[in-house]
Amino acid sequence: MTSKMRVGHGFDTHRFSDDADRPLILGGVRFEGTPGLVGHSDGDAVAHAVTDALLSAAGLGDIGVLFPDTDDAWAGADSLGLLADAVARLIEAGWRVMNADCTVVTEQPRIAPRREEMEARLSGVVGAPVTVKGKRAEALGALGRGEGLACWAVALIERQ
Ligand code: MG
Repeated sequence: MTSKMRVGHGFDTHRFSDDADRPLILGGVRFEGTPGLVGHSDGDAVAHAVTDALLSAAGLGDIGVLFPDTDDAWAGADSLGLLADAVARLIEAGWRVMNADCTVVTEQPRIAPRREEMEARLSGVVGAPVTVKGKRAEALGALGRGEGLACWAVALIERQ
């Protein structure tokens, strides 16, 4: 008997860029005053972690396989577009998304003031509630030194 519900997990990390002109995009929301993230796409680690959680739950592979960073088609890509593509693949495969939840670990920027905006953007694309929270790494390791940020996400999907 196959289960009607499945859970998936996603993780992503990106370094902060030295390029002061590179915008920081997290959960589809632009943050001012913090450097952008190094990446082939727009570097939106939150969108990437949620995308991987969803694809993984459905057994549809992962972001690196579907949207390889060796493919120029994804250079500078809007990561919410990749997320929307992943959701469409899930629906096509007979799944619907129940919810997703993610934790962003970073010293900067502060996530809390923009949390609702990020949740609204991500939920709109996913078509189900996506919740976001920020945590600091308490001066531990590369994340604590502010060299980059990381995001962990889980998603629950149900057979249509
Ligand atoms: Mg990424």
